[in-house]
Amino acid sequence: MTRSKQIGNHKNDKKKNIAKLWKTKRRVKDLDQIHHDLQPENAKLLLNQEIDYQLPGNGQHYCLHCARYFVDLKTLKEHFKTKVHKRRLKQLKEEPYTQEEAERAAGMGSYIAPKLIKIETQKMDMS
Ligand SMILES: [Zn+2]
Repeated sequence: MTRSKQIGNHKNDKKKNIAKLWKTKRRVKDLDQIHHDLQPENAKLLLNQEIDYQLPGNGQHYCLHCARYFVDLKTLKEHFKTKVHKRRLKQLKEEPYTQEEAERAAGMGSYIAPKLIKIETQKMDMS
């Protein structure tokens, strides 16, 4: 009865590493943060940022919906046509999660599907 308890084996090592990789994956903004950024007053600030040499394209080419910086206007416009961007617009059409909605979903009052809001790719100033 001196059998020691086996703690993990080599097979498990790989799985652990994968989990770690997922955890340390680059953090991006949450959708509710982006909804906040889409408010006209916030959007204006984000699209007219001061030159920041730490950022790609000096922070001058920003996609509001994906919270990403692009190196130049061409890359940004190309990005608007990509699947990633279109998928993001779709996700953003649903209003941010609210407490009210949580209560409705929990059966307190009748459930009303989240209102769809109109999301458009930001207007580009071509001048
Ligand atoms: Zn985008």
